[in-house]
Amino acid sequence: MADLAGIEAFADVKRLIVVAAHPDDLETMCGGTVAMLVARGVEVFSVNCTLGDIGTQAAGISRTTLGSTRLAETEEAARLLGIQKTYNLEHHDGELVPSLELRAQIARLYRITQADTLFTFDPYWTGQIHPDHRAAAQAALDAYMPSKMPLYHPEQLNEKGAMVGLLQRIFVFSSDRNPNIFVDVNAIYATKIAASLAHQSQFPNGEENLDWMKALDMKAGAQINVTYAEVFKQLDVW
Ligand SMILES: [Zn+2]
Repeated sequence: MADLAGIEAFADVKRLIVVAAHPDDLETMCGGTVAMLVARGVEVFSVNCTLGDIGTQAAGISRTTLGSTRLAETEEAARLLGIQKTYNLEHHDGELVPSLELRAQIARLYRITQADTLFTFDPYWTGQIHPDHRAAAQAALDAYMPSKMPLYHPEQLNEKGAMVGLLQRIFVFSSDRNPNIFVDVNAIYATKIAASLAHQSQFPNGEENLDWMKALDMKAGAQINVTYAEVFKQLDVW
């Protein structure tokens, strides 16, 4: 296949922010690439818009308890991946909408972290059946432009270290719109699995619960003749 890029597509990235909906989205969607970028010295900030507080079929567990469990699991996964800092916007799982409030919350994090690059879901993938994934990604894209404008929520700029947003690059994952960046993650795949399994509440039976993730990564890997790959598409922004 022509015109495919690999990890070199991220050569200029120094500070990466990943906006997802749920604890475990980052790990399972792009955990390998994140670990490789951390190893190269990139500072990574993880944002989950929801607490993931309906993510169980188990009886007798409250949303509050599940939400706290998932925050702790996120921290453990972040430690394994070498993520600099995690943020949770504490919306409820299954109820996320790309509101003005969410847009401003994400813009604030662009301003505080001074990230130069964004990873998020592709909100326009027609197969994206999870409303939270669509909403998180839509709000993340919508926050890009206003975060750069000083008159947008100027109070955010009074926070320590905050400046107008510096994002220069946006890459989406879970996209069917001709993704062309295939990152060979074989060398780091054990780390991706370990970080994903840190979400014990989601994968209580261990690696067998990750068959779906491996299948996706193998499908991507087949495109570049390796076992496992992660896929992205870069959006044109200016
Ligand atoms: Zn999710």
